[in-house]
Amino acid sequence: MPSAPLYFDYAATTPVDDRVIETMLTCLGRQVNFGNPASSGHAYGQAACEVVEQARRQVAERVGANAEELVWTSGATESNNLAIKGIAQGLGQPGHLITSRLEHKAVLDTVSELERQGWAVTRLAPDAAGLIQPYAVQAALRADTRLVSLMAVNNELGTVTDFAAIGERVRAHGALLHVDAAQAVGKLLINLREMAVDLMSFSAHKVYGPKGIGALYVGARARELMRAQIHGGGHERGLRSGTLPTHQIVGMGSAFALAGQPGDSEHQRLEALAQRLREGLLALPGVRLNGCATQRIPHTLNLNIESAGFNSLALASELALSSTSACNSASNAASHVLLALGLNEQQARKSVRVSIGRFTTQAEVDTAIAVFGRVVGAASVALW
Ligand SMILES: *Cc1c(COP(=O)(O)O)cnc(C)c1O
Repeated sequence: MPSAPLYFDYAATTPVDDRVIETMLTCLGRQVNFGNPASSGHAYGQAACEVVEQARRQVAERVGANAEELVWTSGATESNNLAIKGIAQGLGQPGHLITSRLEHKAVLDTVSELERQGWAVTRLAPDAAGLIQPYAVQAALRADTRLVSLMAVNNELGTVTDFAAIGERVRAHGALLHVDAAQAVGKLLINLREMAVDLMSFSAHKVYGPKGIGALYVGARARELMRAQIHGGGHERGLRSGTLPTHQIVGMGSAFALAGQPGDSEHQRLEALAQRLREGLLALPGVRLNGCATQRIPHTLNLNIESAGFNSLALASELALSSTSACNSASNAASHVLLALGLNEQQARKSVRVSIGRFTTQAEVDTAIAVFGRVVGAASVALW
């Protein structure tokens, strides 16, 4: 029987770390902390509230925020929706919004919804290196620009946006900056106290936490404008109602506490592994890196494979990775990110994302290089 394919899709989701599972179990079941965090009238509720607030401090600490600036959500998708729609509603009338063609659908579709409500939208194209540069954002600012929404790390490419520099320009202009940081935690240094960022979206399941929980950072300037999108009960200071999922929240707190930073030992190990993977794959004939080669996190690689017969399905039985076409399979469209980079439909369909993480071993990396070598080699032979 063939064994399960090796997991090279950490950018899509990560397995929950055992240490995170342990903390989650302390909030499930009769014997432990099962109370409703909003039941402030008795000990069960108070105990649950306490661990929720501890988790909020853990998340805040990882990103350099104050705990009270974080709102729990169901994930980065909801955080992006709350950030963009919540500010738009608070402003009361449509204005101009800047985003990019490289964003996640959770931003692009939300922005399109605002456009239907009368907002003017600029969708920036990347430069030749595949980056959204601060000067490009600066040039797109208009007198009526109210909001800029850009991602910290691109989920398909692994490229990094200089959101700190962009934030300076956006703030000087008087607009707000929202950053989708779902792919950035543990990989980039995030210190919101020193960055001109007004809103930032987080997700637990990209950082070895559970699915279905996330947070939105709402800084002081954004807080004044923010309007809730989910009503009922006034939880989270009125910004997001609903009984707090204690087990999910403590899971996110512990996942963020465990998340590394550039320079720590986990990051160094993954950097070395990623380099080995990158060199091994780029040495193969017709394999090219999509997106900027330098301004990137090491963990995520997006590769274009030129061999005529190449089909990402050939890899699927041995390696679990994202063919960017499968990502958009509902619409059967090629990746909007790769098209925005200037790849044609065919090149976009012949591209795959390979991403590594905490549980990737050197043996797995070497196997992946060998599998790619076989498939790419076979594909070039098929051409002749
Ligand atoms: C995964 C991801 C999301 C969606 O996050 P969920 O928590 O799954 O809703 C949004 N943006 C980016 C950049 C992502 O990688």
